[in-house]
Amino acid sequence: MTYNQRKIPYFQEIVQTNQPYSYEMMRKNLRELKETYPFLEIGSIGQSVLKKDLPYVRIGAGPKKVLYHAGIHGNEWITSVLLMKYIEAFCQAYSSNGTIAGYSAKKLFQETSIYMVPMVNPDTIDLVVGAIPESSREYRHYQAISCYFPNIPFPDGWKANFNGVDLNLQFPAGWRQAQKIKFSKGYRRPAPRDFVGRAPLTEPEAIALYQFTLAHNFALTISYHTQGEEIYWQFLNYMPKRGKEIGELFAKLSDYHLTQVPFASSFAGYKDWFLQTYNKPAYTIEAGLGENPLSILQFNKIYQDNLPILVLGAILA
Ligand SMILES: [Zn+2]
Repeated sequence: MTYNQRKIPYFQEIVQTNQPYSYEMMRKNLRELKETYPFLEIGSIGQSVLKKDLPYVRIGAGPKKVLYHAGIHGNEWITSVLLMKYIEAFCQAYSSNGTIAGYSAKKLFQETSIYMVPMVNPDTIDLVVGAIPESSREYRHYQAISCYFPNIPFPDGWKANFNGVDLNLQFPAGWRQAQKIKFSKGYRRPAPRDFVGRAPLTEPEAIALYQFTLAHNFALTISYHTQGEEIYWQFLNYMPKRGKEIGELFAKLSDYHLTQVPFASSFAGYKDWFLQTYNKPAYTIEAGLGENPLSILQFNKIYQDNLPILVLGAILA
């Protein structure tokens, strides 16, 4: 028996966490994960403006459902790697009858269903990570929008989708208020960030997330963003009691700060809409520290800080 054939407990790492992460890399990793771990359920919640499928992954067969989503802002792509790595780690633990963050993966699998949408805004993530050729029509389209906002770095300042609409300002929860605030700051037209769109739910990525949520009975949601090491848990007077308790535990586990959203960012986000509609725990987590896009060098710390949240989010929901 040669060295390579020795049967040692060994997991080949599928999700690489040392490089910028494009849509194609995610698609490839999802195919590899499904091949290696056939118990994963993988599907699509809809399509982006550029007709990319928006994959979701479900781990677990339990009745209690939660939703985690990431990569809704282009220059926050590191959050997509976070969910992808979590999916892989959960699969590894489940396959080996092991634990994840100290909890039995099998028990977690049986009791909960964790739905994840790891990349809500793939079009712009591809722009920010350099996966769109500069000679392409798409690249020039982004440049043309950016011309009106010369103070926002290109492409690093891009959060919005291909249409120049900020997807986390698209939800019907104080949308008019968001519009007023962002208009007053000069975002009155398609922009790299902070343009709310002509109405709520005009953009396919936001509509997909909205409809996917309506079609399930999620007990808790987490929206991943960067940066600030902060956790937001309320919207106006929607402050579910469990929401605060769980939020306090999340803060303790991650050493992040449980706090209030700055007023100017208080409206029309996914979490705001979920709280208003269901009055169940919903969080925005601002992972990492620094200026977006965060360096992949922060990945290990972000992962260590958030792994317990990703596990307990489902247990406590
Ligand atoms: Zn964000």
